[in-house]
Amino acid sequence: MNYKEKYLDHFSLTKADFIYCEYSWIVKRVMVKAENIHHIEHGANKNDDIENLMAVSYEVHQLAHDEKLVNSRYHLKAVHETFLKENPYDL
Ligand SMILES: [Zn+2]
Repeated sequence: MNYKEKYLDHFSLTKADFIYCEYSWIVKRVMVKAENIHHIEHGANKNDDIENLMAVSYEVHQLAHDEKLVNSRYHLKAVHETFLKENPYDL
């Protein structure tokens, strides 16, 4: 399973389903379609565990890689942890 399949599998989703941009949902409470699965830790600690995989919109993904989100890595990790706990797909 590649990391994208792993992400979908965690939430029991298929490619045809709507995938939330986690950042847009948790921070702004808006439903935005995710275009990318981002590795939160993308340096030496990069891995494909669900804790490290975050679905994001194209725009948020660009910001994440440009380190333009304040305290980018920590902040994204906190957002992702909240998303995993709330899991809107379970509603
Ligand atoms: Zn990325």
